[in-house]
Amino acid sequence: MLAHMGYGTRSEIKRLVKQGAVQVGGKTVKDSGLQVDPELETITVDGERVEFREFVYLMLNKPQGVISATEDSRDRTVVDLLADEYVHFEPFPVGRLDKDTEGLLLLTNDGKLAHNLLSPRKHVPKTYFAEVDGSVGEADAVAFEKGVELDDGYVTMPAKLVILKEGDPAAGRVSKIELTITEGKFHQVKRMFQAVGKKVVYLKRIAMGPLLLDEHLSVGQYRELTEDELKQLK
Ligand code: URA
Repeated sequence: MLAHMGYGTRSEIKRLVKQGAVQVGGKTVKDSGLQVDPELETITVDGERVEFREFVYLMLNKPQGVISATEDSRDRTVVDLLADEYVHFEPFPVGRLDKDTEGLLLLTNDGKLAHNLLSPRKHVPKTYFAEVDGSVGEADAVAFEKGVELDDGYVTMPAKLVILKEGDPAAGRVSKIELTITEGKFHQVKRMFQAVGKKVVYLKRIAMGPLLLDEHLSVGQYRELTEDELKQLK
């Protein structure tokens, strides 16, 4: 159990037991093969209580340049950003953000929760902040509300576009917008703007279902979900 919880390899755990560092129910363990029920007994290592849990839920503010995968032969992955105490749970990203997209990414080893959030039938809303070359206007909001045809012929479901700042191509000023979509086609936000003749130059996810990106997390930082956030997700 201690090996599973990330306290070291089996031989390292044996050494800890030999050193008398492990206690179960207040008694020093002599046999490293001892079977314990973590629900019933208090286990300590060096006097500190071992918290047993199966699942981990992390909110990451994904930086640009890392990929939403668990391993890759060339690029750094989002899992490479995590401390060992989380990696041993084998978390994986819930959905994907492009390599150059920043923002909210949930990492967990809870397959059921991930499946629910990603199921196309659930239509979980995802909100993105984007900077777009050129002038994004009301006509684009109307088009996105109706659905636009992507380069492969797929017509998108209604999406909500909020224009935060209209750009001015003559002055080289980008438009700033928020777009909420309820599906997750490949490069969807970029391709929706492409469908109306515009180019996304910066993209950041700020919400997924009830989860909002914690503004205290700088890019590359992460934290565990609060109990409240988890309750809302389930
Ligand atoms: N849409 C995109 O184009 N890219 C992302 O990373 C997410 C949504």
